[in-house]
Amino acid sequence: MIRPTLDQFLAAVEAARTADPPGGPLSYDLADELGALHHCDEGDEPILDVGRLATELLKRYGASERRRGDLQRAIRRSGLEIGDHLSPNYCSYHGQITSE
Ligand SMILES: [Zn+2]
Repeated sequence: MIRPTLDQFLAAVEAARTADPPGGPLSYDLADELGALHHCDEGDEPILDVGRLATELLKRYGASERRRGDLQRAIRRSGLEIGDHLSPNYCSYHGQITSE
């Protein structure tokens, strides 16, 4: 079996942005497997740890650190929960409530 490249992975994530569930090959299960998943302090929703996930995926695909920006952008655009940008311990929904 041929291992997909990082470019193929990124293309598949991009293609699945509007899928239900979104993300394609990028999933909470994958993040969990890579040790890059945490949960909302309020409602226990799964949240991707973008930095950690990017690090582990760069390793998995043998990609150079220069690709980190592309990868993080794809993760942020994937439609999966990446947490509230002001309150990273919360999902985007609970982060907004708690910051009000
Ligand atoms: Zn939450």
